[in-house]
Amino acid sequence: MDLDFLEKLVSTPSPSGFEQPVQELVRNRFKNFADEIKTDVHGNVIGIRNPEGEPRIMIAAHCDEIGFMVKHITDEGYIYFGQIGGVDASLLPGHHVEIHTANGIISGVIGKKPIHFMEEEDKRKKHEIHTFAIDTGARKKKDLDGVVSIGDPITFPPGFRVLKNSLLASRSFDDKAGVFVLTEMMRKLIKRKLRAGVFAVSTVQEEVGLRGARTSAYAIKPEVGIAIDVDFSSDYPGIDKKRVGEESLGKGPVLHRGANINPVLEKLLIKTAKEKNIPYQLSGSPRITGTDANVMQITRAGVATAVVSIPTRYMHTPIEVVSIRDMENAVKLLVSFVTSLSGKVNFTPQEIRYQHFNLKLRIHSFQPENGPGKMDSSSIGKIITRHRGYNNVFQTQSSNCHAYTLSFSIIHRFRPSVLNSTEPAVPRAYTAENHKCRSPFTIARSPVWTAGTFTYCVQIELIKYG
Ligand SMILES: [Zn+2]
Repeated sequence: MDLDFLEKLVSTPSPSGFEQPVQELVRNRFKNFADEIKTDVHGNVIGIRNPEGEPRIMIAAHCDEIGFMVKHITDEGYIYFGQIGGVDASLLPGHHVEIHTANGIISGVIGKKPIHFMEEEDKRKKHEIHTFAIDTGARKKKDLDGVVSIGDPITFPPGFRVLKNSLLASRSFDDKAGVFVLTEMMRKLIKRKLRAGVFAVSTVQEEVGLRGARTSAYAIKPEVGIAIDVDFSSDYPGIDKKRVGEESLGKGPVLHRGANINPVLEKLLIKTAKEKNIPYQLSGSPRITGTDANVMQITRAGVATAVVSIPTRYMHTPIEVVSIRDMENAVKLLVSFVTSLSGKVNFTPQEIRYQHFNLKLRIHSFQPENGPGKMDSSSIGKIITRHRGYNNVFQTQSSNCHAYTLSFSIIHRFRPSVLNSTEPAVPRAYTAENHKCRSPFTIARSPVWTAGTFTYCVQIELIKYG
């Protein structure tokens, strides 16, 4: 892992809309690893390997970071600013900032009234971004004329630090950690023979609405799209695992499950991790992820998408913390996955997540509870095979009893979880009650019972999880 390059990435400013300094680094980096490099009108940088390969896979990491922008300069020379992306205003007072002007960096500070003069109400006051001003030392507006322009981007200064246990702290690991994994993946792929076409995209404007991934995915027309981004770890004081889920630094990249993730791709990634002994963590993403995978998935007629995340502490603060190990393992996972892809892969989710499948059923007994009646003996001990969508059919002879007890075993290693009788005379309420597998279970009869040969239909569905 080339940590010098990572430090360069996080130390190069790239608030959304002002990404080109960092894109220049990425372009130069790709020069040795890509067959072709493109920059589109939006500013996305695309490094391509094996452009004619199949399937076409787009791997995206956003190079933009949160920041601020000069909005107004007062006559006294103080700079008021707006936010670029989701910034926590309570972090601002007492910080150095850098204003990125046409002629270089201007340093400033965001001041605050000393604690000595703070009233109770000052302490309780909600921090709002438009109430803070940057002090550059200018005495009047004129001092900043031709120096600082309205619309100049602002960031916290670089502060890359190595912590214990292979952890790193800096601003903008969201998502320079992802861009780093992307470029390292391309570096590692250089020695590998590829059958897939790989489009590594350093996307722009993710923090302001996933905008770079949207246009680049449209142009690339991928069949598979993977976003590499940071994700919330829950291994530090004050964060609630019950809300965030269990996720720790150093325990491997995070794979997700949920609507934003194609189930075939999800399984392939997990299979790759298991086969290569790469540690990974699993996150439930019940909503659409806030990553480039969101827009990639709904590009054109749809793309099979997934997210590979780097667990991160203190997201959207100037001291985001990540683990080198997680980035290493994310690179390993992506390199293994990309090299394993070949030709046409069917990503259509044919197997539904709750998979119904053929069932074999052995009937042990079918006993009337009261009154005479007997079951057609040919059904006893008979293995009945159920095919998807069809009911098991077995017959009883006439009876005037009100209930039967059916005893059976399921000759299958999967856990049955839905059991349902669809015999028309069976009251609906009973059907609902039997949504659990029980054997023996009782099939209630309608109290009004006519003699004759009766065909009983019992539908038993098995559900396989995972
Ligand atoms: Zn991000």
